[in-house]
Amino acid sequence: MMKTMPTLFISHGAPTLAIDPGETGAALSELGRSLPRPRGIVVVSAHWETRAPAVSTAQRPETIHDFGGFPDALYRIRYPAPGAPDLACDAKHLLDAAGLPAGLDPERGLDHGAWVPLLYLYPDADIPVTQLSIQPHLSPVHHYRVGEALRPLLDEGVLVIGSGSLTHNLREFRARPGAVEPYVREFQDWMKRSIDAKDAAALLDYRRLAPNAVRAHPSDEHLLPLFVALGAAGACAAARRVVDEVTYGIIAMDAYVFQPAGQPALA
Ligand code: ZN
Repeated sequence: MMKTMPTLFISHGAPTLAIDPGETGAALSELGRSLPRPRGIVVVSAHWETRAPAVSTAQRPETIHDFGGFPDALYRIRYPAPGAPDLACDAKHLLDAAGLPAGLDPERGLDHGAWVPLLYLYPDADIPVTQLSIQPHLSPVHHYRVGEALRPLLDEGVLVIGSGSLTHNLREFRARPGAVEPYVREFQDWMKRSIDAKDAAALLDYRRLAPNAVRAHPSDEHLLPLFVALGAAGACAAARRVVDEVTYGIIAMDAYVFQPAGQPALA
């Protein structure tokens, strides 16, 4: 029997993470080595926004350099993983059956929310990957349901990765390059406590309950992938945080592994 895969939430940070690994790159490399090898990967990236869920059926997804004003070296990076059109269709059917009709996109490649973490997790780029979009106008509950619908994929050896950012207030990006803003740590700590307590109800209502939630996420597209990862792993999943670096004083780079209940914890 195939081993049930965990799900991941990863903060992808600035695109320069690709050339400047820091603590986060090292933690993601280690994480990739520690996980069972997946049959395929579904990445839910904060950088693909659509009205309704969409999944990429690209055979050879292109590496999308969806950012401006960064060093040339970043634009030369390619992540040549094969696409996963069959997996994309499986995901679509699961979403359709859950009452979340999904579209297929044969053109969509991998944006930096997908390929930057994958460079560290799976540097050989030899595991088929598809991307799934988010719906920024819809709630955390919607994204949790998207995750729940994808749950059967975990039993088939598929790794579901939510890629966003634990905090993401880019208006403060250049203004405060120094010490870590206290509100960032408060938000990180509240999220970790709620995740460790398996308090899905509180997490889904984070905008009302978490300290500094609106400051940490003026818009919440970078947190929505977390709810997909949580929903796919289920309410009783065991969570482990593998990094809590803060970059630029304001970008919390937290990454979590969610192991579905009834599965032995990974080393
Ligand atoms: Zn981003």
